[in-house]
Amino acid sequence: MYQSQPTITSMLFMMVKLRLLNAIAPAYFYAATVVTFTLHFLLFMPTVFRSPDVALNPTMLVHIAVFLFLMGNALGNYMMTIWYPSESANETAIPVCSPDCPDRIDAHYLLNGRHFCKVCKKVILKRDHHCFFTGNCIGNRNMRYFIMFSIYTSCCCLYSLVIGVAYLTMEYSISFENPLTFLTLLPLSTGYFFLGLISGLQFFLVIMLYVWLGIGLVSAGFCCQQLLLVARGQTWCELQKGQLSEVRGTWRVNLIDVFGSRWALGLFLPVQTVETVPGNWQVYHDHKHD
Ligand SMILES: [Zn+2]
Repeated sequence: MYQSQPTITSMLFMMVKLRLLNAIAPAYFYAATVVTFTLHFLLFMPTVFRSPDVALNPTMLVHIAVFLFLMGNALGNYMMTIWYPSESANETAIPVCSPDCPDRIDAHYLLNGRHFCKVCKKVILKRDHHCFFTGNCIGNRNMRYFIMFSIYTSCCCLYSLVIGVAYLTMEYSISFENPLTFLTLLPLSTGYFFLGLISGLQFFLVIMLYVWLGIGLVSAGFCCQQLLLVARGQTWCELQKGQLSEVRGTWRVNLIDVFGSRWALGLFLPVQTVETVPGNWQVYHDHKHD
């Protein structure tokens, strides 16, 4: 009845919220990247790998190489996710949900993996979800870059966490031997900061440790879920719709379908791993269901 239909105000509010999220999330990502980069090169490396004897410590060089590799892959795959957006179906009619549809999420249209995105206002092929951090839909062409982006973001954050802990131990003599230290660090630091007992920089570094831990764990979890879905030949949209009964090829075929024949290269470099011809996936997908 009336209650099941969203009002124009609530729909407008939802649209503004989604648009805002689409702008804030990338800004947050860029800010976190710049902060992480600055902290590594200006604070962590000169302190953690300080050596009075040699100007360039070999350990520091290894750290720079590892950090740049992780950061380069995270940023590279982030760019690839945006540069190779999911294909949209050449369908002019925007599907409209029927008034008695109980579904309030944007999954109002799902047929052979085609799915309408409210934010992009397009029917996306093999749509998985709308990623607010990249500002576009994750679907047939950019799923592989999105998964690699998640893996490397997770590695980069957890690596920064380890180096950050080493820095706080060396510079501020905070011992992390007791497992409870990490749990009490944020509340204690907040109190100390407002009492004027610790500097703003120290408080900021403590916050960054939690940011890295949070993003690192969320990205790792997200990546595992996506890999599982890809191996099953399913999308997140289909999972939400409960379309899990259909068997779609073996996991090996499903993985190659997404990661391409040159998948091994994509593990280490943010490069194109499959030749994509417009409409390629659709032909393949339709053929698979014949
Ligand atoms: Zn979208």
